[in-house]
Amino acid sequence: MLTAGGGHAAVTAKDWGKTPDGKPVELYTLSDDELTVTITSFGAHVVSVEAPDRAGKKADVVLGYKDLAGYMAEKSAYLGAVVGRYGNRIAKGVFTLDGKSYQIPANNNGNALHGGTVGFDRKVWSTKPLVNGVELTYVSVDGEMGFPGTLTAHVKYTLEGRSLHIEYSATTDKDTVLNLTNHSYFNLAGESSGDILGEKIMINADRYTPVDAGLIPTGKLPSVKGTPFDFLKPTAIGARIEANDEQLKIAGGYDHNFVLNGGSTLHVAAKVEDPKSGRTLTVTTTEPGVQFYSGNFLTGSAIGIGGKPYEKHAGFCLETQHFPDSPNHPAFPSTELKPGQVMRSTTIFTFGTTK
Ligand code: BGC
Repeated sequence: MLTAGGGHAAVTAKDWGKTPDGKPVELYTLSDDELTVTITSFGAHVVSVEAPDRAGKKADVVLGYKDLAGYMAEKSAYLGAVVGRYGNRIAKGVFTLDGKSYQIPANNNGNALHGGTVGFDRKVWSTKPLVNGVELTYVSVDGEMGFPGTLTAHVKYTLEGRSLHIEYSATTDKDTVLNLTNHSYFNLAGESSGDILGEKIMINADRYTPVDAGLIPTGKLPSVKGTPFDFLKPTAIGARIEANDEQLKIAGGYDHNFVLNGGSTLHVAAKVEDPKSGRTLTVTTTEPGVQFYSGNFLTGSAIGIGGKPYEKHAGFCLETQHFPDSPNHPAFPSTELKPGQVMRSTTIFTFGTTK
């Protein structure tokens, strides 16, 4: 199915097998002169992103699996998934809304992570081809994973030149909370090319949200100044990752939400450069935070799309988001959504090169 041409990205779709309970899954391919991106309707995962290096040579710069079986078998890495209804952690899986207490399954060391045991990443989304992309929709019923309200979530992936745009929107029929993000792991030298410790990152954040031993924000928003969390100037991911710093030790590296400078209109969250290939990634978002995760919990058990295991630090994530555990932190930007409101959020991943 070719849905577009003439200056737009080409969009094709094919069958990609069935889930064990018989639901058909699709794989979309979006391509233009610069990028080729594949997306599956299972969990709205970004499966691959082929981007050129400084010499024009293309490589797949995200971690993914070669087939649906890989995604079905995956336990906790969330490679490229859209996570929801609530991305990242809710302490003990418990929060109160309008005076009522709700319990989300505590699937991660006593806390809820990425929406509980069966999050949006495990669901088959419906799809609609767009002129330069695809729109995926998932309806999460009232009470699913303990969350109140039937939530209708849409994610549009579109290609414009060297940019992959992700636009999220959602509505609800009862007051609820939500935090949607994309959990792609990037390796600008190419997936399976080794670790990302030499890639240089700038994060546009003066502050971050330190965590307790369960990776739940303490509620403090300290300055990054004088700490290994100061990425205001581009710095190799690995330059300070082994520093004698309590926060790095708790997480086994970086796994922290950064408080972005820039407000609620589109702003640059981060820029990454791979000195070897010359590939760059710029992340722009409307979200107030970004989870910078250095792939600390990858163990080599997942075999990637190219047939090699993904070891510790094989990729990094930049999950644009509201802050973790916001429902329990009234001072954090609100993650509440009410009937009649529309949650809208945009993140753009732009792939460039340096000389
Ligand atoms: C979390 C990590 C977690 C990873 C994969 C990230 O968003 O912050 O702690 O290990 O997702 O589940």
